[in-house]
Amino acid sequence: MIQLIRGFKDILPGEVELWQHIEHRAAELLEDYGFREIRIPIMERTELFSRSIGDATDIVEKEMYTFPDRKGELITLRPEATASVVRAYIQHKMHAADPVRKFYTVGPMFRRERPQKGRYRQFYQINAEIFGVASPLADVQLIVLLDTLFERLEVPDVRAHINSLGCPDCRPRYREALVSYLRTVEDVLCADCRRRMTTNPLRVLDCKVPDCRQAMTGAPILADYLCDACRKDFETVKKQLEKLGINYEIDGRLVRGLDYYTRTTFEMQTGALGAQSAVAGGGRYDGLVKMLGGPAIPATGFAVGFDRLAEVCGLSAERFVRKPALFIAALGAPSQEIAFEWICRLGAAGIEAEMDFEDRSLKSQMKRADRLGADYVLMLGEQELSRGVALLRNMRTRDQEEIPIKAIVAGLIHRLQP
Ligand code: AMP
Repeated sequence: MIQLIRGFKDILPGEVELWQHIEHRAAELLEDYGFREIRIPIMERTELFSRSIGDATDIVEKEMYTFPDRKGELITLRPEATASVVRAYIQHKMHAADPVRKFYTVGPMFRRERPQKGRYRQFYQINAEIFGVASPLADVQLIVLLDTLFERLEVPDVRAHINSLGCPDCRPRYREALVSYLRTVEDVLCADCRRRMTTNPLRVLDCKVPDCRQAMTGAPILADYLCDACRKDFETVKKQLEKLGINYEIDGRLVRGLDYYTRTTFEMQTGALGAQSAVAGGGRYDGLVKMLGGPAIPATGFAVGFDRLAEVCGLSAERFVRKPALFIAALGAPSQEIAFEWICRLGAAGIEAEMDFEDRSLKSQMKRADRLGADYVLMLGEQELSRGVALLRNMRTRDQEEIPIKAIVAGLIHRLQP
């Protein structure tokens, strides 16, 4: 038997209803905050990701699904959505009429990471991006939106972790101080971090290797190096979060480590997830639109890990699983034919009705109706047919009544409509 690829998964009925609910609630909230949906392709030219995410990142170095298409052009299954949204924003000149645009998109991402609980090679994200707003209030709005969404989805123990990454004015000073510090602990750092010291030193801050973590406890803190403008923005973020009653903490280790990321960066974490505690991550990327060939337009955004959100969501999938409103137990060919017409007409009227197509015994049809959890069973045999009636049984109360076949579909629609 051919099995699915390691790190990939199926989302089956019984579970998918929760996913649908989450997506629906997220889209609704995003729309209420003025975001509009954008749908972007799953594949892009490899260059889009290597340029935007950066060559010196784990994603680009070792996690992308990249291959030549039949003409030899390198293409990549997207590892994240922001780069594509920025590409679309620039390509369609969406900034021309009004640079302020808010988008969201939902879909699969692909990263060839080591699979483990909460980490997959195909996973899903809900992404939101705000273009054209330099004010830190846009960052606050993203955090508030996530906090509201998680509350509605009953995610326990949520906390926003925030940091400021500074800007091209003040970060180089920090980078220098950090590199000097790293030289003093170089011997204990892992091989990756020794390499990062020159390629991407900020990333050493969020290395998960215990020796590196230990070595970094004495590292200089970015917050101490912020310029006045960055410090003022960060103060605004903190003040607004407090005002709005958002549970947050400052986390100096929270870095994105790429030049186009600026100022506010954040992660939404929950104690309910174990090692992979981040349900969402985001931040400001004021340099990216320009870097990808567009005008200098600031931007900020987030990505929610859909798989993780489904895992920690306090609502049970069962609540959303649909059951047929009606099962028609038809006995004999003439009744079956009539029942078939009825289920088609009921389906078109928005009432889920099932029947057995094999003309099995009443007992086995009733069993199936029970298994499906139908609210009502309509019984129709030769005898009923000759009398022009059908028997409707309420499966919960077991009450039964005879109803005339004439105009029965309209009657059922009236009775069963939710
Ligand atoms: P990132 O795009 O790396 O900032 O990730 C944003 C969010 O996506 C994270 O907070 C996770 O919740 C989720 N995520 C990232 N990578 C994976 C993965 N391999 N499997 C499942 N979820 C992931």
